[in-house]
Amino acid sequence: MDWDAMRSRFHLPEGLIYLDGNSLGPLPAGTSERVRRVIEEEWGDLLIRGWNDGADGAGWMDWSARLGDRIGRLIGAPAGSVSVGDTLSIKVHQALSAALQMRPDRRVILSDEGNFPSDLYMAEGLIASLDRGHELRVVPPDAVADAIDDDVAVVMLTQVDYRTGRMHDMADLTARAHAAGALAVWDLAHSAGAHEVDVTAAGADFAVGCTYKYLNAGPGAPAFIHVRPDLIDAVRPALSGWLGHAAPFAFEQDYRPGEGIARMRVGTPPVLQLAALEAALDIWDEVDMAALRARSLELSERFAKAVAARCPDLTPALPSDVPRGSQVSFRHPKGYAIVQALIARGVIGDFRAPDILRFGLTPLYLGEAEVDAAVEHLAAVLERREWDDPRFRARRGVT
Ligand SMILES: *Cc1c(COP(=O)(O)O)cnc(C)c1O
Repeated sequence: MDWDAMRSRFHLPEGLIYLDGNSLGPLPAGTSERVRRVIEEEWGDLLIRGWNDGADGAGWMDWSARLGDRIGRLIGAPAGSVSVGDTLSIKVHQALSAALQMRPDRRVILSDEGNFPSDLYMAEGLIASLDRGHELRVVPPDAVADAIDDDVAVVMLTQVDYRTGRMHDMADLTARAHAAGALAVWDLAHSAGAHEVDVTAAGADFAVGCTYKYLNAGPGAPAFIHVRPDLIDAVRPALSGWLGHAAPFAFEQDYRPGEGIARMRVGTPPVLQLAALEAALDIWDEVDMAALRARSLELSERFAKAVAARCPDLTPALPSDVPRGSQVSFRHPKGYAIVQALIARGVIGDFRAPDILRFGLTPLYLGEAEVDAAVEHLAAVLERREWDDPRFRARRGVT
């Protein structure tokens, strides 16, 4: 892979070191033009005709499936098994509700403390609305394997812990879930575009993820859902919107699920944001995921080693031998203020309560020079106690 050529395909502000692509990926160079064309030539000139006939021949109505197939390549999902739309929280609800309905005699949803709160909140809300005595059981990450028993209906996990970066073994835990008669729902929010993923080899029953993090589709970009092809016909969608209907434009009174993955659609897709996703995927089509993973580990190790040497006050969030995604995290009681002081120096990372400093190492647009410079800035913030300033302590709404 020619990483320098890759980097030229992104717009990054001059002088800024961006270590937060795990939260919001940067702007691909082709996005503005692609979105402008859809706005002016398609929305502007085609108007309602755009749903059937986009300017390049493909109507907007088909984009959810078409872009789903392109995401499929990044997660090892076959064509026709991924649909794009809605937000990740909605996709979690869809996967979980479908899985629970396939295990009507079981009552436990098993998850871990490393899961993202929205996934756990969606499970709580679903349990309350079903009102059938389900239980959300949340255990420490390393206790998941042993907690899978015959009561478990669904193992619902985020593969890469959003705080620490710890990576679960998707194939192993899915096999354990299946051996116990349970289903596995995997959240790939910090996996898709971060490292190689093979939902097919792992046997994952459902997989969901978002496109605004590593995939670089922009703020508020839609999520995706994959359903194992041999299960999809058994999925009875809880969110039975008209675009998941077998014949939306027949306007029948009663719901009939659409063919295959189409039934995971809910309502009208966000066309402008899909255009941005399409431009982002033009880059991903050229990425060798094995090479990306190797490069990500190289940069992560370089960063972790240098921080250990230069910033002894920061505690690694994970032991070095634990598999991780494409981020490196540390703990410090003043984590929030340290990250703010670092941002004031033009190095953007982020903070996750209660004490995690989180840095995304994304090879598409980062190299050794940025990694080394970021460590120097971090060391300076700590050595000079730059964080100890009232302006870095006031918490903003988004951390
Ligand atoms: C980022 C993230 C979300 C966010 O969900 P949205 O509905 O897109 O806001 C959910 N789950 C996980 C695991 C995440 O990392």
